[in-house]
Formats: sequence, structure tokens, C-alpha cells
Amino acid sequence: MHALNSPVALALHGGCGVMAKHEMSPQEWQAARDDLQAALTAGWAILQRQGSALDAVQAAVVVMEDSIYFNAGYGAALNANAEHELDASIMDGATLAAGAVCAARHIRNPILAARLLLEGGDAVLLTGDGADAYALSQGLTCVEADYFTTPRRIEALTKMREHQTAGTLKSAREAEKHGTVGAVALDSLGHLAAATSTGGYTNKPVGRVGDSPIIGAGTYARDGVCAVSGTGQGELFIRHVFAHDIAARMLYGNESLEEAAQHLIMGTFREQGVGAGAIAIDGQGKVSAPFNTLGMFRGWVNADGSAVVASHQEEYSFAMKVLGTAD
Ligand code: ASP
Repeated sequence: MHALNSPVALALHGGCGVMAKHEMSPQEWQAARDDLQAALTAGWAILQRQGSALDAVQAAVVVMEDSIYFNAGYGAALNANAEHELDASIMDGATLAAGAVCAARHIRNPILAARLLLEGGDAVLLTGDGADAYALSQGLTCVEADYFTTPRRIEALTKMREHQTAGTLKSAREAEKHGTVGAVALDSLGHLAAATSTGGYTNKPVGRVGDSPIIGAGTYARDGVCAVSGTGQGELFIRHVFAHDIAARMLYGNESLEEAAQHLIMGTFREQGVGAGAIAIDGQGKVSAPFNTLGMFRGWVNADGSAVVASHQEEYSFAMKVLGTAD
């Protein structure tokens, strides 16, 4: 059905819970952008070798899960018990196959467990202990829970508890609250894929599951339409079936990717004061990355290898190595 050598494209986000500029040093901002660039490079290398969109989004998310700067895997947010409960999902736009884990406590890279579930086909979503046991049985690296904990997340939990006691939760900064990572890709066969991974929001109730592992809410991919990964207060994304809503607007309402992706984020969510963002890609490789917060870690590569990473408004361009033209 799809021609070989469709243009390839890749986009990712590192969450819309970005700190104010003064809260990190220039070196730290640079290091966070370097990690975004490394995630793009990992995914792009796969697409350049005519690898699959699924492999590309997985590779990009693994790099961000391993980075201290993003709320997923290492450096994930802490819940109300000062514990980590990790959510992740991945979806194949070609077959609508999907895999997800939620409230996992020990899987070093939750996206890898989600991918194995996608391939296995027995269950789409595994929870908590079941997810951890599955990952272990499949030979994935499992770690002690404190592997995920960083001083910044402990500080964020302390601040959120203070806000709770003082009744000032509404004034908590986005960075104290949440974050997520995600990637979307179009491969050379014209297939789309999406992946999302998160620690959820800081001080979330024990057992709370957000939108990221819910197919159609935080993650969705359908060939010929779009692939989407969201970030922001998951409850709203679930209630609006956010990622599938974008696909439906395009498929049934003939909206462009940009119109569909902006609709909830710059409309209803913004009007309700809900910090939100997303990355989305269409069947031609066009990218949209709307956000209504101060910033969103994001990046993308166009078919010609021109690439961008950003945290706030300024975008930093660079040339991604294109196979055959550079080493
Ligand atoms: N969507 C994530 C959740 O609700 C959090 C975020 O992206 O900020 O779990």
C-alpha cells in the first residue's frame, strides 16, 4: 500500500513542565538540549537505515528515560508516598498494535516493556506488580526504586507538599508539577508510530494512572493520519481522549495536522488553565508541536536532515547527519 522511500521524519518532546530559565544554569540548559539532540540522533539513525518508525520512537524515548532532565525513567517524579510509579506506551500506526505499562516501580526503561507487550499481543496494558514481573520475565533490566530518584524531584515533592498545606496548589509552577517524554516518527515505508513515557505528576495519589499509558489519550498512531504524544495534566487528556481526538479531527473533519493539534491545547485546555503540550506528525512527515505553557522541551528533524531543539521560545537549529552525505 505504501511506497518505499516515503520521506522520513521524527519529532519528540521532553514535557511541558519546563523550568523558568533562571532555575537552571546555562550549562544545564545546554546539557538538556544535548540530551534532546542525542534522542533525536538515536531515532534518526534508525530511520536513515530504513528502520521502522516503532524502533525510532523507542530509541528516542530510551535516551530521554535515561536522562536526568526529563520526567521519565531516571529522574521521574515522586508520588504522594515519595515513590515512583512509571507509565509508558507505544503504538504502531500500521497495525494499531499497542503496548503499555502503568504504575511500574522497577523497570529501568518502561518503554521497552511497552514495546514487548506490543509485540507479544496478549495484553495491551499491564499494571504495577504485573508490569514489573513481566519485564523481569522478559529479561529487561529492573532496578531498585531509588535508582529513579534525583535531588530535583525530592525538592519538587517538598514544594508541592508545602503548596498543599498552604492551599496554594494553583500557583505551583509547571516544573514542580509534571513532565513527560514522547516521540513520533514516519518511516521510509510510510508507517507512523508514537511512544510516551512519564513519572506522572509530583505528589500524585498512590496508584494514580495518567494519560501516557492510555492509548488514545496520551499516545496514538494511525498510518495515513497522524502520530501523537501528549504532555500535561493527564486527567484532562483522558477525558478528552486527546490523541485520538486529533486523529479524528483530521480523519473525519478534514482538519490539518496543525489545526487538529492546536485545538484542545490552545483552546479548551488553555481556557481552563491546564498546562499542556504535544508533538504530532502527519502521514507526509509534517510536524506540529503546540504548547500553552512557558516552554516545552521539544525537537524534530525534517526530511532534509535540518533539525531543531528547544525548551522555551528560542529554537536551536542544527544539521543532523544524513547518511551518505556525512560521516
Ligand atoms: N501527562 C502526564 C500525566 O498526567 C504528566 C505530564 O505530561 O506532565 O501523567
